[in-house]
Amino acid sequence: MNLTTPVSELTKVGKTAAKRLGYLGIHTAQDLLYYFPFRYEDYRRVVLIKDLRDGESVTISGAVELISNRRSFRSRKMVTEALIRDHSGSLRVVWFNQPFIGKALRPGDKVYLSGAVKGDLLGAQMVSPAYEKITSRETTSTARLVPMYALTAGLTQKQIRFLAQQVAPLAEQLSDWLPAKILGQYDLIPLPQALRGIHFPIDEAALKKSTERLKFDELLLLQLQAEDSRKNRLDHSAPQLTFHQSALQEFVGRLPFTLTKTQKIAAWEILQDIQKSTPMNRLLSGDVGSGKTVVAAMALYSAFLNGYQGVLMAPTEILAAQHFASLCRLFSGLPISIGLLTANQVSTVILNGAQRSEESLSQSINGERSFATLRMTVAKKEKEGFLKKLAIGEIKIIVGTHALLSEGVHFKKLGLVIVDEQHRFGVEQRKVIKEKSLTTSSQTSLTALSSAEERGTVTPSPLQRRGQGEVSQSAHFLSMTATPIPRSLALMLYGDLDISIISELPPGRKPIITRLVEPAKREKAYEFIRAQVKNGRQVFVVCPLIEDKQAGAIVAPLRGGGSNDKRSVLSEYDKLSQQIFLDLRVGYLHGKMKAKEKDGAMEKFKQGETDILVSTSVVEVGVDIPNASVMMIEGADKFGLAQLHQFRGRVGRSIHQSYCLLFTDSDSYRSSERLKYFETHHDGFKLAEKDLAMRGPGEVYGTEQSGLQQLRLAKLTDQGIIKKAREVAREVAPDIKKYPKLLEKIKEWERVVHLE
Ligand code: ADP
Ligand code: MG
Repeated sequence: MNLTTPVSELTKVGKTAAKRLGYLGIHTAQDLLYYFPFRYEDYRRVVLIKDLRDGESVTISGAVELISNRRSFRSRKMVTEALIRDHSGSLRVVWFNQPFIGKALRPGDKVYLSGAVKGDLLGAQMVSPAYEKITSRETTSTARLVPMYALTAGLTQKQIRFLAQQVAPLAEQLSDWLPAKILGQYDLIPLPQALRGIHFPIDEAALKKSTERLKFDELLLLQLQAEDSRKNRLDHSAPQLTFHQSALQEFVGRLPFTLTKTQKIAAWEILQDIQKSTPMNRLLSGDVGSGKTVVAAMALYSAFLNGYQGVLMAPTEILAAQHFASLCRLFSGLPISIGLLTANQVSTVILNGAQRSEESLSQSINGERSFATLRMTVAKKEKEGFLKKLAIGEIKIIVGTHALLSEGVHFKKLGLVIVDEQHRFGVEQRKVIKEKSLTTSSQTSLTALSSAEERGTVTPSPLQRRGQGEVSQSAHFLSMTATPIPRSLALMLYGDLDISIISELPPGRKPIITRLVEPAKREKAYEFIRAQVKNGRQVFVVCPLIEDKQAGAIVAPLRGGGSNDKRSVLSEYDKLSQQIFLDLRVGYLHGKMKAKEKDGAMEKFKQGETDILVSTSVVEVGVDIPNASVMMIEGADKFGLAQLHQFRGRVGRSIHQSYCLLFTDSDSYRSSERLKYFETHHDGFKLAEKDLAMRGPGEVYGTEQSGLQQLRLAKLTDQGIIKKAREVAREVAPDIKKYPKLLEKIKEWERVVHLE
C-alpha cells in the first residue's frame, strides 16, 4: 500500500463503499489522509461505572456480560441490549438498528464504550455508545479525542476512522515539502506528524500544532499563487487607457439616475487603474442591484474612447443577453457598435448607435423584451461576418459567454476584459480558459483574455513558465461579483487583487419583506402565493436538491440541527403542480437539464407563461424577472446566508412589493438563529461576515471557488498564520527553483484546483 493506492484496495472497502468515499472526494489513500475531521469528541476520561453521572460524555472500560438482539414490540426496531461490568458495577447499554453489534461483541469481550450517560431509576445507561474491543491496537472511536468526519449516506464514522487508521502510517512516505529551515524558523511541526496528529491527536496541544502546520500549508500555497500572479502581471504591459474626463462626465450626465457615492468611487478607482501600463487586476464587488453594470459600462466606454475594444463576459446566455440589452440602453445615442456572442445561439447582432436612431434602438432593446426577440433580430447576421468585424475592430464592445473563448474569436485591439460572476463559470469552461492561456500569440486576445484570467481567481500560471524577459501585452482585467466578499477574505484568497466595493443600493428601493415561516403556516403561505399570482405576479420556489435521495449529497457537518427535510425540485414540482396549485402554471429548472431546456424554462417564465418556477440554486445568478414578487425557499437551512441573499435578490426588481419566504423542517425552524438574523438583515456584506464567522469560506462561497477547495482548515480568522504564510511566500517566491519539493507541491495543487 502506498499513497496512490485506490481506496477500493484497502481492507473492508467494497465497491459500494468505494463509490460512497468517492462522493466525499476520497479516491486514494492520500485523499483519505487529507480528509480531515471537522471536530473531535473528547472521550479521554475513562471512569468507573459506579462513578457515572447523568449527562456526562465519558468512556468506560469493562467486559460484556450479556448481549442479545430483539425486535422492539412497538416500533419493530431492532434493539441490541447489553450488560457491561467493571469491578465497580454494571451498566445497561442499548443500540438501535445495529443488529450486527450483537454478533460483533460476545460475552467476555473486553470493551471500551464511549458516549453520553443517562441516569434513571434503574441506574446508569448508555444509549448507542461508540464501542471498541480492547486490543493492543490504538483505539480510534473510544477512550481518546475521537475524530468526527463529514459523512455521506451509507458511511459511518467508524468506517472512516478505521480507514484513516490504516493509512495514517503512510504519512511517513510523504516527504515534507517545506525546508527544515522554515519549519524551524516558524515553529512548525513536520508534515507526517501533522497528518497523523490531525486524525488521531494525543491531546489538545498536539492537535493545535497539527492544525497550525496544515493550515499554514494551505495558506502558503495560496500566497505563493498570489505572488506568482503578481509577478506574472508585472511581466505584462497593458495599454494605458486615458481618462477622458469630459466624455465620461457627459455619459454620466445622460444617465436617468445619479450615481451613488460608492458607484462613483468604484468607477474612479477603475478608471485610474486602467490608465497605468501594468494590467489592472481588480474585483468589483457589490450587492445584487447595487448597479455594477453602469460602472462596467464606464470602463468599457473609456476603452472605447481610447480606441480599444472591451469585452464583458457572463456565465450564462441569459445573463449575457441581459447585459447586452443594458449596454445597448446605456450607450444608445453614442456611435458605438456593440456585439453579442454566445455559443448555443449562432446568433450575433451588431447595433450601431450612430446608424440607428435612438428610437428604434430602444424599441428593440427596451421594455424588458426578452432575448428571444434579440435572437430573431440577430439571426439575420452571419456569425462569420460578426467574427470578421470583431477581428478588424469594427465592433468595439463585445458581450458574450465563454463562447468568446472559442477558437476563431480574435480581437483587433483588446484593452479591457470584464468578467461577471467569474466563479460561476463551469469547470469545463475554466479548463478551456486554462488551455487558452497556454497559447502565447501576441495580438489576438485570447492570450490577453486568458492571461487576464490568470491574474484573476483562476490562476493556471505555473511558476516554471515565466517569460524570458520579453514583455507581452495584456488587457486590463476586472471581475464583478454580487457575492459580497469581505475585504479580509479577498485578501486572504486572492493576494494579488485590488478591490472596489459598491456598498450601498440606489435610493428608494423597498426592502424585501422576509419571513421564516413556521411549518404550521405553510398552507397560509400557499394562499398568499396564490393571491400574488392572481394579482399578476410570479413566484420562484428554490429547493436544495434536484431529486430526492440525490446521490452523493454530503451531510454538511457544520450546519446545525440534524435536519432531515429533503425538498427536491422534482418532488416539489410534482406536489405544487398536482396538488397545491392545480389552477396555476408551474414550471421547473435545474442544472442537469440541457442548455436548451433550461433556456426554454427560463424563457417561459420570463415571458410570463409560467406563474411559479421551481428550481435549484441555478436562479441564484443575476437573472432579471421584474414581475416576480415572491421568492420561496425550501430547506432554507441548507443554504448559506450569502446564498440566501442572492436568492432574495431575484425579487424586488421593480415597483412591486416583494417577499422572501423561508421554510425549513420544524427542527431547524426552532433552532435557526441564522435564518432569523436573515429576516431582519438586508446588507449582503453583513450577512456574508456573519456567515463566514459561523461557517467558514468554503461553506459560504462554495467549494468550486478556485483555491477554496484547498482551504479545508484555514479560516479568515487565522490572521497570524496568514501573515506568516505571506512572509514565507515573499521570501521563497523569487528563488522558487531552489525548492524542488515546493515546486512539485505547487504543481500538484494546481492539478487539483484546475482538473478536479
Ligand atoms: P447589479 O449590481 O446587480 O449588476 P445592475 O447593474 O443590474 O445591478 O443595476 C440594477 C438596476 O439599478 C438597473 O436597473 C440599473 O439601471 C439601476 N441603477 C444602477 N445605478 C443606479 C443609481 N445610481 N440609481 C438608480 N438606479 C440605478
Ligand atoms: Mg449584474
